Amino acid sequence: MRKKIVAGNWKMNLDYAEGISLFSEIVNMVRDEKNGDQLAIICAPYVHLNSLAKLGGDTVSIGAQNCHQKESGAYTGEISAKMIKSIGCEYVIIGHSERRQYFAESDELLAEKTVIALQNGLVPIFCIGETLDERNNGSYFDVLKSQLENGVFGLSTEDFSKIVIAYEPVWAIGTGLTASSDQAQEVHAFIRKEIAAKYDASTAEATTILYGGSCNPKNAAELFAQPDIDGGLIGGASLKSRDFTDIVKTFN
Ligand code: PGA
Repeated sequence: MRKKIVAGNWKMNLDYAEGISLFSEIVNMVRDEKNGDQLAIICAPYVHLNSLAKLGGDTVSIGAQNCHQKESGAYTGEISAKMIKSIGCEYVIIGHSERRQYFAESDELLAEKTVIALQNGLVPIFCIGETLDERNNGSYFDVLKSQLENGVFGLSTEDFSKIVIAYEPVWAIGTGLTASSDQAQEVHAFIRKEIAAKYDASTAEATTILYGGSCNPKNAAELFAQPDIDGGLIGGASLKSRDFTDIVKTFN
């Protein structure tokens, strides 16, 4: 079923002690603010995950920011979905635009990562989003459609119903530029329509679609009030316990 989710993405920030300290603050603050049917998730660097999974309890769930596409083997320096799952992590971000851009992750690779995450019982938070050029030249619906088709529309209905989609316009990530609530709603409704066309109306209705890109305590309420926006994937603002908690609170 469709969930209300506020997920933090710490990216490559915070050493171990800083991560534990921020996470403990977040758990304490979110505990008093979260609705029963709402999920708060922190997607942290790998080295933090084991400890955070133990501290989060029922209050804050844990996600990784990436995983390797193979089950195991000679892939020096890589981390598998199975390892991530084994330490109590429930989610994994797949296809963040920074992975697509700096690590040349293709739709086809991301499709493999999605499958291996699901096989290991992780919930993929699958990111799609257009660049500024693609927004300005009007090709963004085509871009988003092809990211969906090549990344996740190969999944069975049963598997697709387990994943979360995040719409993150690349031009809004870390730039302080946010899509207006109308721009974001337009795209979220488009994504839901594409899911209905590929699968069926009830699958589309049940899919959780998050907005990401300079989401903060000031703009979250208006964004989350849109009918097709089910929460947010939060970068910069997830590095401050008060800001993250205030975003969680906007659902109340
Ligand atoms: P931002 O990042 O909130 O700092 O724009 C969002 C993301 O990249 O997930």
